[in-house]
Amino acid sequence: MSAILALARPEIVALKAYSHASWDPAFDRLHANELPWRAETDRTRAGLNRYPEPHPLELAARLAGLYGVQPAQLLPGRGSDESIDLVVRGFCRAGVDNVIICPPTFGMYSVAARIQGAEVREVPLVREHGFALDAGAVLAACDANTRVVFLCSPNNPTGNTLEPAAVEQVLVALANRSLVVVDEAYIEFSGAESLAASLHRFPNLVVLRTLSKAFGLAGARVGSMIADPEIVALLSKVIPPYSIPQLTIEAVFATLAPAQLAIQRERVSQVRAERERLRAALGSKSSVKKIWPSVANFLLTDFAAPEEALAAARAAKLLIRDMRSVSPQSLRISVGSPEQNDRLVRSLA
Ligand code: PMP
Repeated sequence: MSAILALARPEIVALKAYSHASWDPAFDRLHANELPWRAETDRTRAGLNRYPEPHPLELAARLAGLYGVQPAQLLPGRGSDESIDLVVRGFCRAGVDNVIICPPTFGMYSVAARIQGAEVREVPLVREHGFALDAGAVLAACDANTRVVFLCSPNNPTGNTLEPAAVEQVLVALANRSLVVVDEAYIEFSGAESLAASLHRFPNLVVLRTLSKAFGLAGARVGSMIADPEIVALLSKVIPPYSIPQLTIEAVFATLAPAQLAIQRERVSQVRAERERLRAALGSKSSVKKIWPSVANFLLTDFAAPEEALAAARAAKLLIRDMRSVSPQSLRISVGSPEQNDRLVRSLA
C-alpha cells in the first residue's frame, strides 16, 4: 500500500464499492427500475427519467481539461463542500485523528471535521502580517494523528493568497504524514497559478476547485477534488453513485463551451475591475477603517460601527456578511454588479 493510502481509514481502504447498474447509453434501460417516459416539462438532453451516469467520467474528463490535470486525478462532487466532507470522511478516524485549520478561514473545514468526530486544531493566520500562513506553527501543531491540514488560497474571508513558499514548506514537511488540502475556490480572481500543476511533486496534495465562483454555477453545485489517482479512487468509493444530477452535468457542458468560457473570463476581469472601484469608493468613507488587501471577489472591510453598516446595507436591500466572530470590526462584502456596488456605497454615506 502507498504511503498516502496508509493514512486513510482502514475500513475505507478495505471497502467494496457499491455495485451500481451498468452504464451504457447505447442500450435501452430495463435494469434500473426507472419510468420509460420523460416528464412533460423535461427539456434535458438525456432525460431526467433516467439516472445520470453513476460516476460521471465524461464530466470528470471535461473538468480535468479545464484545470489541466489528468481525468484520473479529478473527482467531481456537489461543490467543494462535498469534497471537503469526502476527504475528512475518508481519512479521519472518529475520536482519534485531528485536522488543522488556519482561522479566520472558510467554516466548512471545521464543521466537516466535527461531523466526522475529528479534533479540530486551530493555527491562526498572522493578522499583523496580512493574515500570512505561519508554516512553522502549523507543523508544530501536527502530530502522528494529524490527517488533514486545510489551507485556503486566496483565503476566505481575508482575500489574500497564502505565500507559496510557506504552503510548500508544509507540503514537504508533511509528505507521507498528512494530506494538505489547498482550497483554490477563488483562484480565478487572483490570476495566480494553481498548485494542481505541482501535483506530481506532492503526493499528499489535494487541490479543491469549484465552478461556484468564477464560472457562475453556484446553483448547479459542482466542485472538483484534484489529487493523486489513488486518493481519487479511494474517495470515489465514498461518494454516492449518481451524486451529480443530470441537470447539472448538462449545465456544465453548456457553460464550458469555448464561446461561453470567453464570456466567463471577461466577467472575471469585470469583477476584478469592480473590486478595485469598490475598494476606492469604500476607502473614501469615514466609517471604513481598513480594507484588507484582496485578490478574491470580496473585500474584508473593518468598520468603526459594523452594526450600523450592516443595518444601512439591509435598508438598501443588500446583504453583507458579518465576520466579527472571526475578525473584530470586520464585514465581508462580495463584489456585485456596478449598480449593486454603487447602492452599497451610497447606503454607507
Ligand atoms: N471553499 C471556500 C473557500 C468557499 O468560500 C466556499 C463557498 N463559500 C466553498 C469552498 C464552497 O464552495 P462550493 O460552492 O464549491 O461548495
